[in-house]
Amino acid sequence: MARVYNFSAGPAVLPEEVLKEAADEMLDYKGSGQSVMEMSHRSKVYDAIIKEAEKDLRDLLNIPDNYKVLFLQGGASQFFAEVPMNLMKNKKAGYIITGQWAKKAFAEAKIYGEAVELASSADKTFSYIPDCSDLPITDDMDYVYICENNTIYGTKYKTLPNTKGKLLVSDVSSCFLSEPMDVTKYGVVYGGVQKNIGPAGVVIAIIREDLITDDVLTGTPTMLKWKTQSDNDSLYNTPPCYNIYICGKVFKWIKKMGGLSAMKEHNEKKAKILYDFLDESKMFKGTVRKEDRSLMNVPFVTDSEELNAKFIKEAAEAGFVNLKGHRTVGGMRASIYNAMPIEGVEKLVEFMREFEKKNA
Ligand code: PLP
Repeated sequence: MARVYNFSAGPAVLPEEVLKEAADEMLDYKGSGQSVMEMSHRSKVYDAIIKEAEKDLRDLLNIPDNYKVLFLQGGASQFFAEVPMNLMKNKKAGYIITGQWAKKAFAEAKIYGEAVELASSADKTFSYIPDCSDLPITDDMDYVYICENNTIYGTKYKTLPNTKGKLLVSDVSSCFLSEPMDVTKYGVVYGGVQKNIGPAGVVIAIIREDLITDDVLTGTPTMLKWKTQSDNDSLYNTPPCYNIYICGKVFKWIKKMGGLSAMKEHNEKKAKILYDFLDESKMFKGTVRKEDRSLMNVPFVTDSEELNAKFIKEAAEAGFVNLKGHRTVGGMRASIYNAMPIEGVEKLVEFMREFEKKNA
C-alpha cells in the first residue's frame, strides 16, 4: 500500500528508513531473540540502547556536560506542572503567551504560585511573536517561560527573549531538532517527541544540573521530581522503552542526514516552497506575520469556509492528509516536520495550484 503525505501536527510522519529498520528488528533485536518491546529495561542490551540514544542527542545538540538529559513520560502537558513544581522557589514566574500551549502551561503554573503574563499576542489571534526586548521581568521571578514554536498558530521565536538574567524555560515540542540550538542559553529545554523525534509517550528534557535539586514544592510527587529521574538516569521506573529506542534511531537518521545544520537547510527549502506559493496565490493566504513564520507548521486559509472544507476533502482524496487546521483556528495547516520530504511539499503546492485554477 502506498504511503500518504501526512501533514499532521503530531503524532507526525517519521522517516521511512527508521520505520523499516524497526520493522526488521521487531522480532529479534540484534540477535537478542526479543523485540525491544519485550526486553527488561534493566538488561544490558536495553542499557546500550538508551545510553546510545542519549549520546547521539548530546552530539547533535552539542549539549554541555553540566546539562542532564532526561527521557520522561506524561507528555509535554505533564511537564507544564513539573516546571513550577521543580523551579518555583519564590513562587513567581513570568510567562509569554503566544498560543494555546503557552496558555496551558501558564494556567498550570498558576496552580502553584504567581504566574505573571509578560507579553501576549492574543490580540491578533497569536499570529505573531510579541516584542520581547524589554519585558516587565522582576527580580523575584524564578524563571521566564516560552513556547518556542507555536504548533497551532505557526509562529516561531527567531530571537530568544531578553530575560534580564533570569532562567529561560522553553517548550520546543514542535521545533525540536529542526535546526541547531544553543542549549547554554536555556535553563530547561523540553519537548514531547511526537513531532520530529518519535512515537508519543516520551518527553525529552535537557536541564542545567544546578536546577536539579531536592528543593521542590511541597507535595511534588516522587516521579515528577527531576532529582528522582536524574539520580536514576531516567530509569526510576519502567520507561517507554520502545519509544526511546525509536527516538534513538531518529537521532542516527538526523546524523546521517548531516546533523542539525543540514536539517535546517532542508526545512528552510521546504518551507520556502510553501510560503512562496502562499505569497503569490490569490486564493490561499498564510495567517502569520512574515518574520515570525515557523519552519514546521504552516497555517493558511481561503476566504470561505466552504472552500476550506472542499480543499481539505479533495486533498485527502489525493493522498495529502491531515491538512485541517486546529479546531480553535479553522482553515488549514500543513505541518512539515523533519521527515516530510521536499517532494511532499512540492506535490502539495502543485495540488493547491490546480485547485486554485479549478475553483477560481
Ligand atoms: N507543547 C506544544 C508546543 C505542543 O505542540 C503540544 C502538542 O501538540 C504540547 C505541548 C502538548 O503535548 P502532549 O500532548 O505531549 O502533552
